[in-house]
Amino acid sequence: AHYVIGMKLGDLRHTAVLSDFAGRRIAEASMPTRPNRKCAAILIAEARALMHKLLAAQGMASRDISCVGVGMAGMVDFATGSVAWSPMLDAPSTALRGQFETAFGVPTWLDNDANLLTLAELWFGGGRSKSDFAVVTIEHGVGMGLVLFNQLYRGARGVGMELGHTKVQLDGALCRCGKRGCLEAYVADYALAREAATALDQHESLSESPLALLEALFAEARGGNEAALSIFRRAGRYLALGLSNVAQLFDPEVIILSGGRMQYDYLYAREVLSEMQAMTLTGARPPARVEIHSWGDLVWAQGAVALALGALTEQLLGH
Ligand code: BGC
Ligand code: ZN
Repeated sequence: AHYVIGMKLGDLRHTAVLSDFAGRRIAEASMPTRPNRKCAAILIAEARALMHKLLAAQGMASRDISCVGVGMAGMVDFATGSVAWSPMLDAPSTALRGQFETAFGVPTWLDNDANLLTLAELWFGGGRSKSDFAVVTIEHGVGMGLVLFNQLYRGARGVGMELGHTKVQLDGALCRCGKRGCLEAYVADYALAREAATALDQHESLSESPLALLEALFAEARGGNEAALSIFRRAGRYLALGLSNVAQLFDPEVIILSGGRMQYDYLYAREVLSEMQAMTLTGARPPARVEIHSWGDLVWAQGAVALALGALTEQLLGH
């Protein structure tokens, strides 16, 4: 048992990497998610199938694996392995980690997906040299991870740093969490897709293929379509507001922007970042830097490897 698996479970796709104890990536695999099935049993079965696909391609079996790290969207408590809320589940779960362990047959740790990306930065990326930084992710939701004093900060009950659900508007747009005025209800995939459907008059695509709709919106913006550009501009302004709040609250050395929607560079256009800086009270201090980092699913999965390796080490040291 000399290997570790890291997984990012997502709304559209699950991605896994096989790694050695030094965090070196040996192999990877991914598979599409069964759409609109928010059921823990299905999610776990899919994750198990992905694990076996990854191992089989290497001629390995679960006995070759020491542990697995898994990340998914939502209020996932690393310490207890329970999930208070997740857009991927129709109900909270008190013992999700145990269910994964049973399915995988090896020790497993669970965490919030944005925390994975933050761990990837902390272990393997630009975060290694920084003691205080934030990672903000944009794709089907808006996520965040925060490193304070060289450590991932999770909150007293493990479910903090839900930047996507901080409120940026009273009585605002409806979020996928059921509340109104959340940041992600203006910035995330479904928010942009909702507006694209209206602007491009493609209402049927909204439920069928929101990502294709986003691609169309992006292409229109590229072509100079004013309506498309203004959708991105508005989302960018809300993002600026959210990032400004992060900078104002935590004074991080850098805010790293990442996640699957970084290809839509309008979201973090120069005007967006300068508006963010202008909103933030910094006095005589220079403003927090914003960096755009790599965003593929593999990086998240690599963070899940770091999660598992870190947890395993702590366990061996008896913490
Ligand atoms: C969830 C977060 C998650 C983010 C990105 C949000 O809707 O609440 O927990 O990190 O989406 O997936
Ligand atoms: Zn919300």
